[in-house]
Amino acid sequence: MNKTIAVIRGDGIGPEIVDQALRVLDRVASKYGHSFKYTDVDMGGCAIDKYGDPLPQGELDKCISSDSVLLGAVGGPKWNDVPGNMRPEKGLLRLRAGMGVYSNNRPAKIWKQLADASPLKREIVEKGIDFIIVRELIGGIYFGEHKTENGVATDVLKYSESEIERIGRIGFKTAQKRSKRLCSVEKSNVLDSSRLWKKVMHRLAEEYPDVILTDMLVDNCAMQIVKDPSQFDVIVTENMFGDILSDEASMITGSIGMIPSSSLGASGCGLYEPIHGSAPDIAGRDIANPIGTILSAAMMLRFSFDMSDEADAIEHAVSKFLDAGYRTADIMSDGMTLVGCRQCGDIILENI
Ligand code: NAD
Repeated sequence: MNKTIAVIRGDGIGPEIVDQALRVLDRVASKYGHSFKYTDVDMGGCAIDKYGDPLPQGELDKCISSDSVLLGAVGGPKWNDVPGNMRPEKGLLRLRAGMGVYSNNRPAKIWKQLADASPLKREIVEKGIDFIIVRELIGGIYFGEHKTENGVATDVLKYSESEIERIGRIGFKTAQKRSKRLCSVEKSNVLDSSRLWKKVMHRLAEEYPDVILTDMLVDNCAMQIVKDPSQFDVIVTENMFGDILSDEASMITGSIGMIPSSSLGASGCGLYEPIHGSAPDIAGRDIANPIGTILSAAMMLRFSFDMSDEADAIEHAVSKFLDAGYRTADIMSDGMTLVGCRQCGDIILENI
């Protein structure tokens, strides 16, 4: 199969981790007889430096016209003082909206080899951590009006029934493919947008009678994720709650560096990225963990290109890396072998 992939290396550790994922993709291509053609796209701080804009239209167009997009991460202290609508992260919001990817899927799964890296007690980890957060990605407070006037700052949180319905359906369909339990997370005791969210979810539930729908307030959910994560299978929630809960969920699985994500919309062209940021504190030192990005590439093969054997091969190669006792600094523990970012890529691609 021939596929085109827009590649956004971005800032900080972005270039280092994306390079490892591309080497892994090249190995998959040669082993399985595919051809992946990469198009470089500038986004984030590097695009501000080059064009004075975090995502010029021409760069966005390259993404929209590709079969899929692989992203490292954007942002960093160098661009902290640029005006709000010119910040690196604005490029990311523009990319998600421009691609129409409204559903962000983040798995929270513990690798058995990393049980000791979880900050949770062993007996909680042993009950199992394996759930998915389906997060609405292009609505809510991140996309509402933002303004500061006369010392008063306002951010608007707005959701329409149709926006809730389309992400709700993804939640139900994801649950149908798993254990048929869906937990809808909101703050309906305080927010109108959450009361509408809850109403729409319950209306949808009538169309998916095989799925058991439960409701949970977001503050309780944050607590339950550390108290007993085994109770969750699929969580569906709005943009900001999903952002916060998925970072929390990633931490209980060991390291933010291990978690991939996919963002999908109506077309097959998806956006695949690790859930962490550009980690400026460790950038350029060859110590970042590239596994979240490598697993994001695996998700791309599975969800956008229908290449499940190839995706399995990457996931298996990561598992073999961990089985052999190799660890990057963020997941290092006693008795394991410390490797850098590039060496991690070397070993994983040898395992394919
Ligand atoms: P971060 O995720 O970049 O880093 C948080 C901590 O996790 C740091 O200690 C970092 O060293 C560590 N870490 C992250 N990824 C790692 C990896 N692959 N391997 C090893 N350790 C890793 O979050 P932050 O520090 O809050 O943000 C830094 C910058 O990234 C900010 O400018 C922020 O806006 C941006 N950001 C971008 C994205 C994105 O591009 N999708 C997401 C979140 C934050």
